[in-house]
Amino acid sequence: MSRTDPFLITGPALISFSGGRTSAYMLWRILQAHGETLPDDVKVVFANTGKEREETLRFVHECGSRWRVNVHWVEWRDTLAGFEEVGFNSASRNGEPFSQLIEKKNALPRGPQRWCTQFLKVRPMFSFMRACGLGKPGQYLEAIGLRNDEGHRILKGLERAERDGRRTCYPLGNGGVSKPEVLAFWWGADRVYETRTIPQGFDLDLPPLWGNCDFCFAMGVGIRRERAKQMPSVTGWWQAHEEATGRTFSMRESVAEIVQQVAAFDKTDDLFADFDDAECGAWCPTDEVAE
Ligand code: SF4
Repeated sequence: MSRTDPFLITGPALISFSGGRTSAYMLWRILQAHGETLPDDVKVVFANTGKEREETLRFVHECGSRWRVNVHWVEWRDTLAGFEEVGFNSASRNGEPFSQLIEKKNALPRGPQRWCTQFLKVRPMFSFMRACGLGKPGQYLEAIGLRNDEGHRILKGLERAERDGRRTCYPLGNGGVSKPEVLAFWWGADRVYETRTIPQGFDLDLPPLWGNCDFCFAMGVGIRRERAKQMPSVTGWWQAHEEATGRTFSMRESVAEIVQQVAAFDKTDDLFADFDDAECGAWCPTDEVAE
């Protein structure tokens, strides 16, 4: 294998696994490049916010067990260590880390102030690496699952990494991998979720408009309405936090307003809007870091 293979990762390194199909595909390609076994100093880390869908947790678990790769599950904690390592069974499922963060900051992440990504995704991964003896920026490489068709995000990520003294790489981007290739890997040649053939024998059991936190306010309002329509129960935790704080996650509409809008419509095509399928992981370069 050529050392220029973008999927060949030289440790020490962190593979940031968001729990979505794209970063899972990156992980698979990296495993293939390494003969299916990663060097000990290449760590795969998944950060659970507590608001991930159960399907996402199962998918992450399946990637680890089927591909025989040690995926480290971490959650943010307000402790000196800054994280706790959990597993599929012990992972938070009721938004506990997210709720504790909201309580600590006495605020909601809102609009572009998406500090939830920094605290719940990025920091626990970095804290994990610090616990591995790699606490300084640039001491290890970060492999990030952005595709070739997400070039603007890659550029922003590179800019931010340079500013912070981090070393990042984008194997999918460098390998020229775009969305159709990822979808064909998981769904088969026609790349359609509804008629997928599941070539890998398993898949993330969620339609494409789902992923990461179940009612993420950073998604477009069309997606949030559609999610509320498909699974009304997902709005409860978010609405409760808005009511408790008297604030809203979105700068445009409250969760209660979305619930009302959904109740007023009865056709999905009135609700749905095109969506951005970005996975939330260690690569939200627009995040504002609020200390
Ligand atoms: S998925 Fe959305 S709500 Fe969850 S951490 Fe990321 S930006 Fe925040």
